[in-house]
Amino acid sequence: MTSMTAVVKASAGPGAELEQVEIPEAKGKDVLVEVAASSICGTDVHIFDWNDWARAHIHPPRVFGHEMSGRIVAVGEEVRGLAPGDFIAAETHVVDGTCPQCRRGLYHLCENPRLLGVDRDGSFARYVLLPAENCWRNAPGLSPEVAALQEPFGNAVHAATAGPLKDAAVAIFGAGPIGLCAVGIARAEGAAAVFVVEPNPFRRELAERMGAAAVFGPSDRTAEELRRANGGLGLDVALEMSGHPSAVEQGLLSLHHGAWMSLLGIGDRPVTLDLNDLVVTKSVTLHGIFGRRVWDTWERTSRYLSTGAVDVRALITHRFALSDFQEAMAQMKSGRSGKVVLLPDGGQSSPKGGSP
Ligand code: NAD
Ligand code: ZN
Repeated sequence: MTSMTAVVKASAGPGAELEQVEIPEAKGKDVLVEVAASSICGTDVHIFDWNDWARAHIHPPRVFGHEMSGRIVAVGEEVRGLAPGDFIAAETHVVDGTCPQCRRGLYHLCENPRLLGVDRDGSFARYVLLPAENCWRNAPGLSPEVAALQEPFGNAVHAATAGPLKDAAVAIFGAGPIGLCAVGIARAEGAAAVFVVEPNPFRRELAERMGAAAVFGPSDRTAEELRRANGGLGLDVALEMSGHPSAVEQGLLSLHHGAWMSLLGIGDRPVTLDLNDLVVTKSVTLHGIFGRRVWDTWERTSRYLSTGAVDVRALITHRFALSDFQEAMAQMKSGRSGKVVLLPDGGQSSPKGGSP
C-alpha cells in the first residue's frame, strides 16, 4: 500500500477534497504515525474557508489538520527512544532549534516555528509524518480522542496557569473548546469562582456543564455584570479565549488593580484600547500566550486528564469518519458543537489502552 486517504486543500480557494495521496516515508529523525483521532480546530475552519490568514499562510496542495493522536508504525534511522507501537500525540509547533530562543531552550518562543497542517502536511489523513522530537507519549488509558485533545487543552493550560488561580475569581471570555477546557482547569486549581462570557447558547450550556458558576452573554455591560456576580469586587483573573476585541476591553474593565490576564484568542483585526486606564494605572499583568511550553505544559495536561482532575468528555460533542469530512466541517460551522473529532477508520478500531 503506497497511498492513503487525506483531506487536502487542493487549490487556493474555499473548500477541501478527500484525495488519495502518497503515504510519506519515515526517514532520519521522523516517525510515521497511523492517526487514531484528529480533532478539528478553528484554524482548520479558516483553512477550509480560505480567509485572509489562510491565503497568506497555506501553499496548496496541503493536507491539513493538526490536533491528533495515533500509533507509531515506522521510525527513521536516527530516531532514538520511540518505536513502532508507541501511542503518541503531536506537539504541533515544529521549532527550528537554531534561533536565539531555541538555543536558550525556550522552544515555545521559537522565532520560526513551522506548524503541522499549515507549513507541513497534517493529520486529516490515515498517516502523518512527525519529527520524533514532537511526539508526546500518551498516558496509558487515555482514549484516542482525549489524547488528540491534549494539544488545544495545552493551550488552555498555558494560558490559565500563567498566574495564580487558587481562590481567584476568574472570568473566561469565549467558551470554545479552549475556553471550556480552561473552566475545568481553573476549577481543578481551586479558583473561588469561574465566570464565563459567551454569545452562543449551545456553548453557554457546555460551560455550565464544565462547572462555570455563572454564564453571561457579551455586551458593553459585561464587566459590570461580572463584578456584580463577584460581590461587587473586581476579578482576579481574566482569560481572553475568544479573539473578539470587545472581550479584551471588558476583560480588562472587570479586573481589580494588580490583577492578571492571559491573551490567547487570535482576532482578525487590530484592537484599540485605553492602555492608560485599563492596564498602566491599574498595574495589570498581561500574558501573551502562543502554543504550549515544551514539555511542562504537556506534563500538566497529561496529569489533569489522566487523573480525572479535569473531565473533557462532555465537550467532545461529535465524531465523524474521515470520509465524512464535509459533514464534520458543516457541524463545526453550525455553532452547535464543542469539539468535533475525525476518526480515520470511522472509529472501528481504537488503539490499545483506551475507550472513549
Ligand atoms: P472557538 O472559535 O471555537 O471559540 C471562540 C468562542 O468565542 C466562540 O464560542 C464564540 O462564540 C466566542 N465569542 C465570540 N465573541 C465573543 C465575545 N465578544 N465575548 C466572549 N466570547 C465570544 O475557538 P477555540 O478553538 O476555543 O480557540 C479560542 C481562541 O484561541 C480562538 O481565537 C483561536 O484562534 C485562538 N487560539 C490561539 C492559540 C494560541 O496559541 N494563542 C491556539 C489555538 C487557538
Ligand atoms: Zn527557534
